[in-house]
Amino acid sequence: MSAQPAPLPQDDPLETLKATFGFEGFRPGQQEIVEALLAGEDVMAVMPTGAGKSLCFQVPALMRPGFAVVVSPLIALMQNQVALLQSFGAPAGMIHSGRERSENVADWKAATEGRIKLLYMSPERLATPRMQAALKKLDVSYFVIDEAHCISQWGHDFRPEYLALGQLKELRPGTPVAAFTATADEDTRADMKERLFGGQVRVFISGFDRPNLSLAIEEKSKPDDRIAELLEDRRGSQGIIYCGSRKNTENLAEKLRDKGHNAVAYHAGLPDEERAARLDRFLSEPDLVVTATIAFGMGIDKPDIRYVIHRDMPSSPEAYYQEIGRAGRDGKPAEAILLYGPSDLMFRRRMIDDGGAPEEVKRHEKRKLDILSAYCEALTCRRNLLLSYFGEVRTEPCGACDVCLDPPRTEDATADARLFLEAAIETGEVYGQAHLIDVLRGSESEKVIKARHDDLVVFARGQGRPARSWRSLVGQLFAKGFIEMRGEYRSIALTDEGRTFLNGGGSLELRRSEKRETTRALKRQQ
Ligand code: ADP
Ligand code: ZN
Repeated sequence: MSAQPAPLPQDDPLETLKATFGFEGFRPGQQEIVEALLAGEDVMAVMPTGAGKSLCFQVPALMRPGFAVVVSPLIALMQNQVALLQSFGAPAGMIHSGRERSENVADWKAATEGRIKLLYMSPERLATPRMQAALKKLDVSYFVIDEAHCISQWGHDFRPEYLALGQLKELRPGTPVAAFTATADEDTRADMKERLFGGQVRVFISGFDRPNLSLAIEEKSKPDDRIAELLEDRRGSQGIIYCGSRKNTENLAEKLRDKGHNAVAYHAGLPDEERAARLDRFLSEPDLVVTATIAFGMGIDKPDIRYVIHRDMPSSPEAYYQEIGRAGRDGKPAEAILLYGPSDLMFRRRMIDDGGAPEEVKRHEKRKLDILSAYCEALTCRRNLLLSYFGEVRTEPCGACDVCLDPPRTEDATADARLFLEAAIETGEVYGQAHLIDVLRGSESEKVIKARHDDLVVFARGQGRPARSWRSLVGQLFAKGFIEMRGEYRSIALTDEGRTFLNGGGSLELRRSEKRETTRALKRQQ
């Protein structure tokens, strides 16, 4: 490429942001990452797609001496980013197999001569001994690994070529490595951290919040009728209603049409041309409601979807987050409403049990389901609970979820909360919630007897509270940050706050588990 050396970089990242990219300020979470990179730290950053990962490494790359090596798995991604950087006048180049050799050589030369600040390349290219030998001698400011979850077998996009990136720290011990990903899966994150950084790295998580999206849960009963009713208040605007089966999408669409709504079903069982026709209608009819399975999603990027309703429970917090994320992309108020009942939870569990996945994967999926049900039963700010699952910690209530807007009735749960925490400690903080509840409720299950947990002081001391209510309590302790769920078995362990509570004399108010109908309250607020 032919770009001249950039004008001398500013030493203030905000100035660089304004001068080069023309943006007014950093988004939440960006500045911390920029500063860490400027300070020469290793960084692992988790941000959802669209939150603005690229600027986090582009701004400091322009400011530090030398050039940053950016590893990206897809040629198309590289091309987009490099073209965009060049359009801002930021000197960037790339080396990959989709270009002429002479183009690659020109960009490489520009890098070695200090004429570019960002050099994008594929992981295969970086892994070659020749490239590694060359990079050893050059002025590399840091390495950036985009889509870093590709290094993990746990991730969905495992790329064997990424494994070689685990050696970057040996290749250039003093050179920082910055890994970026949008994956929220905890096992994948742990794996990334281990392979790329030997477990030692500062982790930044941000950008998961969608503040214009209000969140609500309703106890599920006669869902099709209820949805028709909900749509009365939302006539004229567009929404998606996710259903757990093709049959449910068809039945619901029919019911809605009967009530005079412009509704159509969408699922993978329809012929291709019919699907295309319905998608076309969705893009052109501003009041069309689509009742859909998860087949309706990929590539749906319509900015003005005003609500996403879940008739049936989704499979995981990730799926839920992704599905509700299709609403309100224009930044204007939008709603996410989930109808939730214990039978859905059971249905989802059965689907996992009956599926052909290995045991380990099934446990993994069930754990995600437990978190989603804790979200549904939350007694504190739902948004904060969801964000905490993705690793983003908030303490201020959001003010835009049903729990914040219509605070549930509470009870003094101090004694039972302590009892639960004691049960976790007495059993070594290695058991999941189901077993701990069994112990507290005095169940003589095989597992309880085998572990001799019927001999514990806490055994059967929680019989006064039904299992469902215990689960709700556990969900709330999780939401409050008193406990965390660790590792493969979601073992319940106390956090520092949990220990402080247990050792101190504080009291704890929690929400009663009871029927509520909150969406109306939410609607009234708008
Ligand atoms: P990601 O890589 O996280 O998916 P991008 O880096 O492509 O996201 O950023 C998404 C969009 O947000 C881009 O259009 C980008 O220009 C824009 N963006 C990122 N940071 C800011 C900011 N601080 N101010 C304004 N726009 C931003
Ligand atoms: Zn809230």
